[in-house]
Amino acid sequence: MPFRDVVGHVRLIKLLSRAAAGGTLPPSLVFAGPSGIGKRLTAVSLAQALNCTNQSSVVSHQSSVVSHQSSVVGLLTDDGGPADDGRLATDSCGRCAACKRIARGVHPDVLIVEPGDSGAIKIDQVRDIVDRAAYRPFEGRRRVVIIDEADALVSAAQHALLKTLEEPPPSSVFILVTARPDVLLPTVRSRCPQLRFRPLAANDIASALVARGRSESEARAVAATADGSLGQALEASAGELVEARRVAERVLTHASASQDPARRLEGAKELLAKTGAGGDSEREQLSSHLRAMASLLRDVEVLATRADDRTLANPDVRPALERLTESYKGERGVRAFGAVDRALVALERNAGVKLVADWLVLQL
Ligand SMILES: [Zn+2]
Repeated sequence: MPFRDVVGHVRLIKLLSRAAAGGTLPPSLVFAGPSGIGKRLTAVSLAQALNCTNQSSVVSHQSSVVSHQSSVVGLLTDDGGPADDGRLATDSCGRCAACKRIARGVHPDVLIVEPGDSGAIKIDQVRDIVDRAAYRPFEGRRRVVIIDEADALVSAAQHALLKTLEEPPPSSVFILVTARPDVLLPTVRSRCPQLRFRPLAANDIASALVARGRSESEARAVAATADGSLGQALEASAGELVEARRVAERVLTHASASQDPARRLEGAKELLAKTGAGGDSEREQLSSHLRAMASLLRDVEVLATRADDRTLANPDVRPALERLTESYKGERGVRAFGAVDRALVALERNAGVKLVADWLVLQL
């Protein structure tokens, strides 16, 4: 897809577009950031911008692009620069044969490597692309090698890649896409400037969902619990979300009605109940229930402070929100929100599921 259709990441897209137009793209890059936010998609968009045969360019900007983008440092620290008028220095058409083949993964000059069934990227896969990258591009102008989930490169494969990253073949660009850049060998990292992709804004996710045919209110509700990941938002089905929200609301109500720890711990069982929300594992389900809880508590804060209620993530359950606001307005709500946040972090770090649920209901 062309740069202009990528959701979010406006600043990074502009940088990449200008570097592509000015011929100043570093030969190897790491795209780092959480899963499901569009890193690989952006890498594919870059490959299209570099090889589209029907390219649109903002020619008037290009003379200044080169001087401002003459170094890697320029690419990575640029905060807007001369072409910062919302236009992209260059973009692909998304429709020509080259663009379509790149999107389908069958363009001879755009190679995508990803983990196989074993979950790892093996040394043979890397040797193969290193060999292929040594030739001049067959059809396109730049050969682009995208290594998706680069943290899955086994150590020997990273070593096999090192020399190529150090002395990349002319007209090749290597892009290592990863949610865990810290797992890459320091020698690999030091050769690849890193672009950090941030979680998407809930508004951007909601708009993307609406564009894909979801209703406005459902889109906002799903976006609010998606952790900045469009991928996660697209996977979340509305039914699961509604169920997760129902659990979260019941547990909050239960906790507000009783100070007795024994009775509160009853609520923890509910949090662990099997609803299918978020995934099959207990951990995924609890996370999903907790994200729904965080989303409700954020809305309580909106209602309690009389902020613009068009920003509510869950406007369709407004009566329930108003009931919760009675109990959770002010400091208690802030404390509860903080506790949910800590519980989510603990789950990510593999803390015991039951322990987290028990701890949380006592903090609400
Ligand atoms: Zn094209």
